[in-house]
Formats: sequence, structure tokens, C-alpha cells
Amino acid sequence: MTDTSMHVKRCPECDEWTDAKLDNCTHCGFPIHEARRSEIKKRRQVDDIHIPIWRINKDDPFWLKIFKRPVQLVQLALYSIVAFFIYLATAFAH
Ligand SMILES: [Zn+2]
Repeated sequence: MTDTSMHVKRCPECDEWTDAKLDNCTHCGFPIHEARRSEIKKRRQVDDIHIPIWRINKDDPFWLKIFKRPVQLVQLALYSIVAFFIYLATAFAH
């Protein structure tokens, strides 16, 4: 271990540098690692949302491929809107 920058961490509560080895901020007692963990967990949950897109199979008949294409576009549009709202909800949760 040669990187000494790993041992300090900026507290998200009081914005002071604190010892990263400790669980709580030395200035205000804020649980710095706890906050980070829940933040990561929150991001993971957003990333893990399964998107069941109706896939076009190679052996689908021609008419079915034509039909599925706009359905996929609508699905993608809806999911991007939903993802945007989830982003907003997490961004303003603090
Ligand atoms: Zn603090």
C-alpha cells in the first residue's frame, strides 16, 4: 500500500476530511461508510432494473418482425422515461 490518499475521506455531512479507517466522521460523527454503502446500493438497484424488451427472433415470420419493431421502440421510450424519473427521485432524495 503506497497510496496514502486512500486513508482520508471527505465527510458528506460536514464536508471535512476525516480518517477513512473510522466508521464515523471525526468532526460531526456522521457514519461516512454507511452513507456511501446505501448510496452504492441505491445506484445498484437502479442499474439492476430488468428491462424485458420484446426481442425479435431470427425465425420470426416477416410480418411479426414488422410488427415487433415499433413495439420495441415504444417499450424503449417508456423505459427511458421511467429511468429518468427514477434518476430524478434518487437525485433529489438528499
Ligand atoms: Zn462530518
